[in-house]
Amino acid sequence: MTDIRSILNQQQFSHSDLVRLLYSEGDDQQQLFKFAAEVKKKEVGNKVYFRGLIEYSNICSKDCFYCGVRLSNKNIQRYQLSDAEVLQAAQFAYDQGFASLVIQSGERYDKAFIKQIENLIIEIKKIGNGSLGLTLSCGEQSKETYKRWFNAGAHRYLLRIETSNQEHYKKIHPQNSKHDYVKRIQSLNHLKETGYQVGTGVMIGLPFQSIDDLANDLLFFQKLDIDMAGMGPYIEHKQTPLYQYSNELLSLKNRFLLSLKMVALLRILMKDINIAATTAMQAIDPEGREKAILVGANVIMPNLTPVKYREDYLLYEDKPCIDEEADECKNCLEARIHRTGNAIGHKEWGDSLHFKRKKPSF
Ligand code: SAM
Ligand code: SF4
Repeated sequence: MTDIRSILNQQQFSHSDLVRLLYSEGDDQQQLFKFAAEVKKKEVGNKVYFRGLIEYSNICSKDCFYCGVRLSNKNIQRYQLSDAEVLQAAQFAYDQGFASLVIQSGERYDKAFIKQIENLIIEIKKIGNGSLGLTLSCGEQSKETYKRWFNAGAHRYLLRIETSNQEHYKKIHPQNSKHDYVKRIQSLNHLKETGYQVGTGVMIGLPFQSIDDLANDLLFFQKLDIDMAGMGPYIEHKQTPLYQYSNELLSLKNRFLLSLKMVALLRILMKDINIAATTAMQAIDPEGREKAILVGANVIMPNLTPVKYREDYLLYEDKPCIDEEADECKNCLEARIHRTGNAIGHKEWGDSLHFKRKKPSF
């Protein structure tokens, strides 16, 4: 059998190479992590960029079977931040030297929502004369809406494919036009055509998901030529339909480990993209995000949502940092990152190098 180091040194990875690496254990697994750390250092440097996360609203018109804020969950209080609350969080981010924000929200398509997001983008861009970079994660929208928000000043967009296997996608979503795999792919293409830096990702350890699927997810990211990725473990939530499969899942520890391997492999496969160390990693392991940084992640999203709303944005159970004020969150994160031997890219946008390299030069 080919040894792990020779596989890692290849320029191209087949599906079976990726499956082998996803199954790696013991010394092989350590070699994978070490190799990914070397690739990160060489290609993007040991630097971590902050994106202050604003969970704008948990009002959602969709019913994804895995998500705690799905439309049919009647056990949560719905909220939407006021413009003043968003701008206060944005100002805080700016004052603290965070160079970028992420606005994340449940999915809505009504005119009022589209306009509110557009206005917020315009107002946020006024802070420090356009110095805050802006990522949106507001789900599937029409190409016109994507263009409107892009023209207003957003320049990155996160839309996870959740799983690249169409049959699997059908099993974790209701079967209707709001939850359509082909439309999701189309949205990702519209985002690219509009000019955004595009990020996607999957949940790891979902019911009905195989290692084969995860290897295909990695190849999917490569084929789509993404600029950014946000992946993390699936964590069950009692008030969701997928909760009934809780007994069939990998242990949380193994979902976490598999997520680390996915981050490491993606760093090796797509050397110069941005990869987030997601909050779901920390939900399982208190040092989860640091561990993700050590094996290839280079973006972190400290939560700036006002504390009173956080327990209503529970996508899954045991979400961390729901009772910490933003500045506590920042201090604890900075110390954690320094311990990984990484520097923090204060006041730097830290845009995807992959995206910059793709741009035609005039
Ligand atoms: N509504 C937008 C969307 O779906 O793209 C953005 C917000 S949504 C809450 C952000 C991400 O949360 C989803 O893409 C999904 O991957 C993740 N998520 C939802 N439920 C989850 C769960 N139970 N465990 C882990 N991640 C989850
Ligand atoms: Fe809504 Fe996003 Fe949750 Fe789906 S994952 S229910 S679109 S917030």
